[in-house]
Amino acid sequence: MEVCPGVYALDCTVRSYAYLVVNQPAFLIDTSMPGNHEKILSEIKSLGVDPQSIGHILLTHHDVDHVGNAAALKEATGAKLWASAVDLPYIEAKEPRPGLKRFVARIIKTTPPMIDATFDNDKIPVPVEVIKTPGHTPGHVVFLYRDILFAGDMVMTRRGQLRLSPALMTWNLPQARASVRSVAERSFTWICPAHGHPIHRDQQWDSIVASTL
Ligand SMILES: [Zn+2]
Repeated sequence: MEVCPGVYALDCTVRSYAYLVVNQPAFLIDTSMPGNHEKILSEIKSLGVDPQSIGHILLTHHDVDHVGNAAALKEATGAKLWASAVDLPYIEAKEPRPGLKRFVARIIKTTPPMIDATFDNDKIPVPVEVIKTPGHTPGHVVFLYRDILFAGDMVMTRRGQLRLSPALMTWNLPQARASVRSVAERSFTWICPAHGHPIHRDQQWDSIVASTL
């Protein structure tokens, strides 16, 4: 699905969207559930994009449904893999994931990818602004690109309604709410979450921000 010119929510990742941004170089945001890298690569090709032209893969956070194909896609594309320094030990399986996610990671197995660079210590050479939004995980980040907010799991949509991610899967709920408020006044038109479909900002953003107060 083309969200905006050159920005695609990859249809084969509908349960946990990975996004492709066609740019110089192209880049991916998140990598969806494990075991899907071949479908992702063929969808990228079907959009007329050479997987080898993908220069960077940006992870919003450490959850397995976002990191799932990172190792395989990094190997197939030669892209540089980026994450927040805070979530890096969980992504690389150097520490068990906090809370319930420790058990989720035991059930949904993935190859831990090696991170090449962190948003904290390296300057990312693609035109996104990285915004720290801790809460869903300790090192969760969102990305502003043109008029799009790539929201990771800071928010989600269900049946066309924008909402916060489930509290049960949230590492720190007060921080998650504060993170939504911290980006409330930023300029964007589209919200691209991992779960549920992209949504226009319109009135729903204001009500989700109000719900965090
Ligand atoms: Zn998720």
